[in-house]
Amino acid sequence: MRKGIPASPGIAIGRAYVLIKKEDLVVKKEITDPAAEKARFYQALAETKAHVDALIKAAQESGRRESAEIFAAHRLLLEDPDLIKTVDARIEQEKVNAEFALETTLNYYINLLNQTDNVYMKERVADLKDLGRQILHFLLGKKPLAEIDLEEECIIVASELAPSDTGRLDPEKVQGFLTELGGPTSHTAIIARSLEIPAVVGMDGITTDVKDGDLLIVDGQQGTVYINPPPEVLEEYRRKQEAQVKERKALTAVKSLPSQTRDGQELNLLANVGEPWELSKAVEYSADGIGLFRTEFLFMNKERLPSEDEQFEAYKEALQKMEGKPVTIRTLDIGGDKKLPYLPLIDELNPFLGHRAIRLCLQEKELFRTQLRALYRASLYGQLRIMFPMISGIEEFRTARAFAEEVRSELTKEGFQLGRVPIGIMVEIPSTAILADLFAKEADFFSIGTNDLVQYTLAVDRMNERLAHLYEPFHPAVLRLIKMVLDAGDRAGIEVCMCGEMAGDPHFTSVLLGLGLRSFSMNPGSLLKVKKTLNGLTLDEAKALAEKVLAMPTAAEIKSICINIQGKDEIR
Ligand code: PEP
Ligand code: MG
Repeated sequence: MRKGIPASPGIAIGRAYVLIKKEDLVVKKEITDPAAEKARFYQALAETKAHVDALIKAAQESGRRESAEIFAAHRLLLEDPDLIKTVDARIEQEKVNAEFALETTLNYYINLLNQTDNVYMKERVADLKDLGRQILHFLLGKKPLAEIDLEEECIIVASELAPSDTGRLDPEKVQGFLTELGGPTSHTAIIARSLEIPAVVGMDGITTDVKDGDLLIVDGQQGTVYINPPPEVLEEYRRKQEAQVKERKALTAVKSLPSQTRDGQELNLLANVGEPWELSKAVEYSADGIGLFRTEFLFMNKERLPSEDEQFEAYKEALQKMEGKPVTIRTLDIGGDKKLPYLPLIDELNPFLGHRAIRLCLQEKELFRTQLRALYRASLYGQLRIMFPMISGIEEFRTARAFAEEVRSELTKEGFQLGRVPIGIMVEIPSTAILADLFAKEADFFSIGTNDLVQYTLAVDRMNERLAHLYEPFHPAVLRLIKMVLDAGDRAGIEVCMCGEMAGDPHFTSVLLGLGLRSFSMNPGSLLKVKKTLNGLTLDEAKALAEKVLAMPTAAEIKSICINIQGKDEIR
């Protein structure tokens, strides 16, 4: 039995599909038979061409003109005589393996392109990297995740998965996944929870220890994994799996119950969404609205920035699907572990403390303007609220808000009819939580982003599996900051929501209710569990717990009483 970090609950039993590690892709090897090595290279090249041809055809058939054009450009690069000649010569003269010859050649071209000021040329860097990855995968006999056409159900085992990879997983085929890197609030883990796919992260060495086809048991609740387990363990987990399916079915009864406590305190139980299918889940699980629409996903699964019209359609769809219920859309929060292939960001030592989210939008004004225009134009179709991420000071909020107002008046002048749109902020940086009383005078609402608030308060990288034991939402400092924000919102009469992962984890439900939280926003799959927990609580019980907890000096003590209240087996 192996232990990792629980990332998404549920039990998966299935065969492993191991994705190759990035660092294993290119290892320099000396070869003795250049002709054979070159044959391998040309074979991989031919396979990549066939693959790209299929992509072009599929894109043309489904009317994705832009994708078809990009693939056609890839096809041209694959025939570039200089590139092919250089790889060929390297294999012949330097007697190195095809992977290494290809990688070094591509790096040479990438460096050249990076040195130009020409934006068009710079964009080719992403194409070259993408192509290089594809040829390499054919050389190694494996395809990149995005292109795997999984024929059978499997459990994906990888060193690391990018959020855009996880978003592409087919939940019908992928029963679970294991990664070596990542923490419980990495976006990959968040997406797994949303897809309701069991996942364990932080599994050091798992891509070496597991082979394709090994039988795996993944317990995403406990963070345990069995590799080729004995029959009695398998039997035990099959029983557990059946019990969980029954439990899930029973939960559907909660759907029609009101969002309130046992003693009638009304609450808002909202959904976090990113991908379009999550909207349908929000509706299916009777969300009272959308508390967080992560717009990054609209930007991530693309080859270029989405246009104003494309964005408008996506926001309009969300508003219409929610039929008048509030929909809080967060402006682009890119950076950290969320990257855009076509918007190369400078490598930074501390990306989570770097040029991201609102900081980036305030510099890339055209990008920000396009998004705000699309948002305002969509405001006629429902109850839209705009939210800025990563706000760290009042000036920054004022600047962003003034820019939004400028965009709004620009649209009014152009003759657009717009709805009323409250503007709020994510409270996810300690400076903002500390100044919550001042922010409450200027922002229309708050949403506490505990995923980042915990990492910044405790100085613990949310992605770092080695620090996962220190990433502690039950930390008294975190709970005090949350209380400060809730109190400030209450005094100023503005709504305070919470959209970090804490809001969807039943272990925190009673203490958060007791601290004063009334709007919980979470991945749709958690809505019924949290509603059930809240339905069983009274406000007085929750307040008594919060009072007790606030006097406690350590996370361990707080955790033990909160978990005892919720029941140990419900742990995420
Ligand atoms: C958060 O930080 O809590 C949050 C909801 O934002 P994200 O997870 O997208 O950073
Ligand atoms: Mg955040």
